Amino acid sequence: MLPEEALKNYRKAGQIACNVRNEAHKLVEVGASVLDICEKLENMIRDKGGKPAFPINICINNVAAHYSPPPMEAKTIPVDAIVKVDIGVHINGYIADTATSVGLSVEHEDMIKTAEECLGRAIKTIRPGVKASEVGDAVEKVIKRYGFKPIWNLTGHQLARFMLHTGKSIPNVGKINGSKLDEGEVYAIEPFVTLPQAAGEVKSTNDAYIYRFQKERSVKDEKAKQLMKAIKTNFRNLPFSARWIINELPRGDFNQAFSKLLASKNVTGYPVLVEKSSSVVAQAEHTVIVTRDGCEVTTV
Ligand code: MN
Ligand code: MN
Repeated sequence: MLPEEALKNYRKAGQIACNVRNEAHKLVEVGASVLDICEKLENMIRDKGGKPAFPINICINNVAAHYSPPPMEAKTIPVDAIVKVDIGVHINGYIADTATSVGLSVEHEDMIKTAEECLGRAIKTIRPGVKASEVGDAVEKVIKRYGFKPIWNLTGHQLARFMLHTGKSIPNVGKINGSKLDEGEVYAIEPFVTLPQAAGEVKSTNDAYIYRFQKERSVKDEKAKQLMKAIKTNFRNLPFSARWIINELPRGDFNQAFSKLLASKNVTGYPVLVEKSSSVVAQAEHTVIVTRDGCEVTTV
């Protein structure tokens, strides 16, 4: 069992994440600024007493994961898009991770419904002793029953204090990962659905807008050191956006110092992930705590 304090914080983070997810549905509309939506949602997390556990991700159409707008980006939501909004909240390091898909055309409705339904089915399978592959099998079966395809190389993941991805992973297909889930563990379950004729796989691009402190390595630059300290203090190992630290230094100094942290691998970027055959993607995600006889969903 989780200590009471951990449970309390996981639940509070979950509640905030749920409220922010509902707000995201209202903000995503054709022509809306992606940066504006992100900042509004991130501020909403802070206003409610949480901290973003990672930058709000807004992934459009064939972009599956890891897109968050860089500072001053001008991108807007296009017509007929399918928009995934992925939200992370933490309270004292206890994380809630949840995502939803917004369809701006009726043609996306079935795919979004499928993502939600297979997430629901997956959650019903979770109890101590269940194999990760059984959860994945439940996801895959629902997706295929509706005539869609899962993305096999994106997975759910175990969460721990100040750690977004740790321990065991939860696949979106059967036959991968036979490790068993135990009571008191926390997981983000996140099926990704794409079209039947798609590759059903994501690939990395050369763009990265979300970063993480990796390991302290020597860097001979006072401003880079200063920036490093701010990153470690504010985010520890959790992902962050350049938007959140850009005001730590004057702009020219910031760009130079940040480049040095990347080049020296003190900080690494998460490449934006797109569907390999450029197919549209839907996602749904909840965070669950494995209990004695099932699980508690923290993000509903
Ligand atoms: Mn997520
Ligand atoms: Mn996740």
